[in-house]
Amino acid sequence: MLSCKELVARSSDFLDKQLSFRQRLAVRRHLLACKNCRRFIKQMRLSQAVLRQLPQGQNAELDSLAAKLAELRRQHS
Ligand SMILES: [Zn+2]
Repeated sequence: MLSCKELVARSSDFLDKQLSFRQRLAVRRHLLACKNCRRFIKQMRLSQAVLRQLPQGQNAELDSLAAKLAELRRQHS
């Protein structure tokens, strides 16, 4: 069975579905038995979801910045 440390080391690959079938099985088995790691994986998953939303937010910000700059240019010309 995996140790908690090994599970943490593999967690991002697990969430990105980069593990082999056998490795995934080992992670799953550990998660069934270990409440702490279940919580850890859950948090990882949440923060990944947040990270995935970030670029969109940044783009929206860039868009409004570009719009503001365009307006400034219009005012000055
Ligand atoms: Zn554990």
